[in-house]
Amino acid sequence: MRLRWRKTVSLALVGAALGSLALAQQTPKRITQPVKPPKGAIVLFDGKDGSQWVHRGSGQPFAWTLVDGAMEVKAGTGDIQTKQEFGDFQLHVEFMVPRMPQAQGQARGNSGVYLHGRYEIQVLDSYGLTPGTGDCGALYGQAPPRVNACLPPGEWQTYDITFRAPRFDAAGNMSEKPRVTVLHNGIKIHDNLEIQHFPTVAGLPGPPVKTGPILLQDHGNPVRYRNIWIRPLNR
Ligand code: MG
Repeated sequence: MRLRWRKTVSLALVGAALGSLALAQQTPKRITQPVKPPKGAIVLFDGKDGSQWVHRGSGQPFAWTLVDGAMEVKAGTGDIQTKQEFGDFQLHVEFMVPRMPQAQGQARGNSGVYLHGRYEIQVLDSYGLTPGTGDCGALYGQAPPRVNACLPPGEWQTYDITFRAPRFDAAGNMSEKPRVTVLHNGIKIHDNLEIQHFPTVAGLPGPPVKTGPILLQDHGNPVRYRNIWIRPLNR
């Protein structure tokens, strides 16, 4: 009995080790062209204008810079968020962090994609680092990416995010926490991860909600975004 149990445990450990090895060996996928939105997707940014976005708090029209079919964070203008709100969704974002060799840590190409405006998937130049909870791909402050899937600064990278909104019971209490799966450059860095704390740092304040906007962070660095689309998922 004991032997069989041990065997099961060792097989599970070997399986897990092989799993992490396989994960670590995956190569981040480079894109040569923007990834086409699938049928039914809502295009949030097509490179031409920021009409789907307003600035956080003020509600002022989009004032980031449009350059080469991308939008670039204009430092000091503040975060932007979509006019529209979403519940469950699949979100595609392409981003490029600038090369900032003099800067370190959180000052190097910082921005972020906030789901429901509340839960940040960090954007940062974390190329080649052992990632922590503040690095690129992290659910900020809570969960590092399972592997570092970053490409070097100056290259277009992708996030493909599946978000499951929190659920509420008849009395309005949260019965299920929000969950997120993230592919970074095609590599699954979060797998149906349950979000534990709300919001993450600098997210929209207040408790979890049924629907919310997509929010992009102005952290003072000229990070670029392009080709952003979302596909609402039926509950
Ligand atoms: Mg950030």
